[in-house]
Amino acid sequence: MTSHRCQSCGAPLTSDEIALYRKLICRTAVAYGCLDCLSEAIHVQRHRLEELIRWYHETGCCQLFAEYES
Ligand SMILES: [Zn+2]
Repeated sequence: MTSHRCQSCGAPLTSDEIALYRKLICRTAVAYGCLDCLSEAIHVQRHRLEELIRWYHETGCCQLFAEYES
């Protein structure tokens, strides 16, 4: 449904990447970064970001992620 691309490298973004970006960087962001660029920007390893995404989905504590669940 989305056609967003990473603002740094132009990679197509998943809804999870967008949700994580909004969660970590700016809730009202309109331009996003992919996991690779985000991990570089905030100095967090990519696999930690993937764990975080999984955690948010599992706990359901964040609406940004809950709304993307099917
Ligand atoms: Zn990127």
